[in-house]
Amino acid sequence: MTIAAFSASYAEAREKFLAAATAAGAALEAYDNPNRGPDGGSLATDTAWLGPDDARRVLVLISGTHGVEGFCGSGIQVDWLGGSGALPADTAVLLIHAMNPHGFAWLRRVTEEGCDLNRNHVDHGKPYPENSGYDDIADDLLPPSLTGPEGQAADARLLAYREKVGELAYYRAVASGQFRHPDGLFFGGGGPAWANRTLHRIIDARLRGRSDIGVIDFHTGLGPFGYGEMITDYDPDGEGAARVRAFWGDSATEMRKGQTVAQVTDGATHYGFMRALPDTRVTFGTLEFGTYDRLAGQRTLRADHWLHKYGDPLGPEARPIKAAIRRQYYPDTPDWKEAVLFRGDQAVRMALAALRGASARRGEPTSLPYQGRYNGDAR
Ligand SMILES: [Zn+2]
Repeated sequence: MTIAAFSASYAEAREKFLAAATAAGAALEAYDNPNRGPDGGSLATDTAWLGPDDARRVLVLISGTHGVEGFCGSGIQVDWLGGSGALPADTAVLLIHAMNPHGFAWLRRVTEEGCDLNRNHVDHGKPYPENSGYDDIADDLLPPSLTGPEGQAADARLLAYREKVGELAYYRAVASGQFRHPDGLFFGGGGPAWANRTLHRIIDARLRGRSDIGVIDFHTGLGPFGYGEMITDYDPDGEGAARVRAFWGDSATEMRKGQTVAQVTDGATHYGFMRALPDTRVTFGTLEFGTYDRLAGQRTLRADHWLHKYGDPLGPEARPIKAAIRRQYYPDTPDWKEAVLFRGDQAVRMALAALRGASARRGEPTSLPYQGRYNGDAR
């Protein structure tokens, strides 16, 4: 395990991933993105396949769904490839590197369409989910100026709104996803984004006809620094949630029980997999690594969206904003990286064991009933 697996840029991450996958004997495929990075470099989602082509069981490891968060997942993938060793029989691993390469290269959470990929996997044939809370504060989240009297007035109105509706409703309004403000935060899109279509191409090429598929989608930005929370979006007490607990034990938290700080009701990659593979046993976990506090995260996101709407993403004003968003989603410190690698490797190991039929050991349940409550307020 080595923190040298992490990279300082998308281009370096891609190079390291391709080198590590080649050294491990993986079959590579590139899905070229039509856009360019800020340095003019080319962009692609790369896949690496290890194991027999006809394996019935496949573990999928995804990095960079949220662009800039790809530093984390890429580091885990590169590190794991370096020490992967022999896989269990009838099992393959599919690594998807830089699911959203444009966001990774430009240090953004969103795609080239301005779209939050983890809100984009909705059924685009149906009316989009409403988020009237976001409508209420859209203009104040993204005023023409974030500083000076105009910015201060917007901040004051946001604070008043937050105090009026409460912390949870405010957080949901901002972050649960919205479909009306394409320049805004957590925009779900007006159709399937390039990265969404690319994921479906990968699913068609590699994942049809399998018996069991495990997925770990690596994210950052929510929770305590360096802690990796395994989040599931399955309905509580259903088979999917039970499988997630069999895979990853007691550390798994259930979004729909309000156990997690994440607040997505539809559109996450989880739902993309479920809709694309209705007849396959898919066990999907989102591994979310904590960084810095989430209000700081919102400030960096507002600044980044402001930059791409009103400013020049290649101009001098971009530098402090890009440095802030990079730090928020990629704490570039040895202790954070070590924690990420340890937990990432553990999650992969547990998933491979579970695909083989082993069940994670769980603590003895108590007789006290579960007291559901939102536990993100303290953060
Ligand atoms: Zn994320």
